[in-house]
Amino acid sequence: MRSKIVAGNWKMNKNLEQTEALLAELAGKLPDTDAEVMVAPTYVNLAAAVRALGNSTIEVIAQNMHFAESGAYTGEISADMLLNIGIHTAIIGHSERRAYFGETDEILAKKVKAALGKNIRVMFCFGEELEQRKSGDHFNLVESQLRNALFSLNASDWSNIVLAYEPVWAIGTGETASPEQAQEMHAFIRKTITEAYDAEIAANVSILYGGSVKSGNAAEIFSKPDVDGGLIGGASLVADDFVAIIKAI
Ligand code: PEP
Repeated sequence: MRSKIVAGNWKMNKNLEQTEALLAELAGKLPDTDAEVMVAPTYVNLAAAVRALGNSTIEVIAQNMHFAESGAYTGEISADMLLNIGIHTAIIGHSERRAYFGETDEILAKKVKAALGKNIRVMFCFGEELEQRKSGDHFNLVESQLRNALFSLNASDWSNIVLAYEPVWAIGTGETASPEQAQEMHAFIRKTITEAYDAEIAANVSILYGGSVKSGNAAEIFSKPDVDGGLIGGASLVADDFVAIIKAI
């Protein structure tokens, strides 16, 4: 059975003190839930976040990682460095990495392989831009993003993959995909994985929706059968909002 997941992507927000304060508030207010709850603070605060959370069930995850083992990659962080500080999941392929840092499907495929090779769980993000949605090309685009970065993996790798469908036009814009649009795409993703692998892998992979999920719209989006939770940006920076979203699952 696939897990329900609510993950907060804090992006380039929150200094050390703010990170510790938000984690303390979240840990204190965390509702009883079957869902996995994750937060992705900025790199410089990952180790402190792991320490601050202690035995909490909240998992600290990374926003990115490099594909190389080690070496001359100024500014980058390796899988081993993450493991060394107790991080076992990394977001890969976020649309901001693709748009602002030139991360192509080819680079992302290498990152995914490197992470899985180290037993780091991958939260793989993908989704169409507004023009592709308007021209009706969004299904083709999503299929090609999945094919290029993931479909050369072995079937057994899929137990360490979480998918996050994030239509770019809905990220940080306040405009969210309707629950029906999210369900339609998530069902398409499962169909595509069934064709590339098999129905069992498709049924077992968690597919999160991301894009302007808030406390007010989370329950309706999460109620859709193929939506297994959310990747939350802005609303994960305020404890009460993030907690309300966790309660909605
Ligand atoms: C994101 O960046 O992954 C995201 C979903 O952001 P927001 O919730 O702010 O749209």
